[in-house]
Amino acid sequence: MVSPLYDQHGRPLEYLRLAVTDRCNLRCFYCMPEEGIKYMPKHELLSYEEMLRLTGLLATLGVRKVRLTGGEPFVRRDLVPFMERLAQLPGIDDISLTTNGVLTAPHVPALARLGVKAVNLSLDTLDRARFASITRRDELPKVMETFYALLDAGIQVKINAVVMDGQNIDDLVPLADLSRALPVDVRFIEEMPFNGGSHEAGPASLPWNHVRIRQHLEAHFGELTPVPMPAGATASDYSIAGHQGRVGIIAAYSRTFCGTCNRLRLTAEGGIKTCLYDQGVLDVRALLRGGKDDEQIVAALAAAFRFRAANGFEAERQRPLHQLSFESMATIGG
Ligand code: SAM
Ligand code: SF4
Repeated sequence: MVSPLYDQHGRPLEYLRLAVTDRCNLRCFYCMPEEGIKYMPKHELLSYEEMLRLTGLLATLGVRKVRLTGGEPFVRRDLVPFMERLAQLPGIDDISLTTNGVLTAPHVPALARLGVKAVNLSLDTLDRARFASITRRDELPKVMETFYALLDAGIQVKINAVVMDGQNIDDLVPLADLSRALPVDVRFIEEMPFNGGSHEAGPASLPWNHVRIRQHLEAHFGELTPVPMPAGATASDYSIAGHQGRVGIIAAYSRTFCGTCNRLRLTAEGGIKTCLYDQGVLDVRALLRGGKDDEQIVAALAAAFRFRAANGFEAERQRPLHQLSFESMATIGG
């Protein structure tokens, strides 16, 4: 096994979040404006060949886990054959993905054959009208089809639900309750300012932060018992007496987990982000297309990771002033 590269704050590089596209078939209001975002022209997106080359190079620096995200990964053609090739890269031993579930059900058998053990399924409500209002598309039945197909195939399902003031608070308990009768984990994510809008206030202004989400769940389920989490985890997971699965809270805006962050993000157009809150620290597409050799690209990736910000607040402070408005999460990949 490769010994991982460590950053200047002593955190290892182990995990790559790879946005395979910026395109999406939903329009979740916390992620994109109604009219969608300005998609990159196709030739500006990394090709699968380029992603494979980069992932292979990152594996030599310690990356062993890759999560595909986007945009919606299944909107990109030939995703499954790409995953098959990714799985063959030396050093990569864990491939997972985050999906909205609309196009996913027919691919579940292929995911199972590939050995994908867990899929993160984004689902903010179990109510069809509310789903249509949040995502601006009436697609809940297809998402539920994916949910049950994953369970039937024995793939672990982790539900991601963004907690939105005035939108889906009544859904938190029914969503968490899925973990009682079914072996699924349900994670609640603090809403972040990544919908292309500007971001002026700090975490204190977030109406539903991790503390309030926990209190809300405890008011219904009784005390949540913390479950020890591996280093690098962003979720704080809890067990509930009598439930098969767990519930979790991801303090994405409060940023309580930066101290053990082991990840790097590759955006669909080939930008490297060493923190969700940075503005992109390396244009690796320019290196790939500018004829740099493997050694030069590995050196640039290593330098970018080594000197990353200590946490999301520092990364945010380092953004140039003109970039204080945040891009859509669909270009970053979550
Ligand atoms: N389209 C796929 C999906 O929705 O699962 C993958 C990409 S999506 C950007 C990845 C994750 O980011 C989703 O779970 C989504 O709920 C989350 N996300 C998007 N915008 C967010 C925001 N403003 N705050 C918190 N989470 C957000
Ligand atoms: Fe699409 Fe996922 Fe963003 Fe929703 S959260 S608009 S499904 S990329």
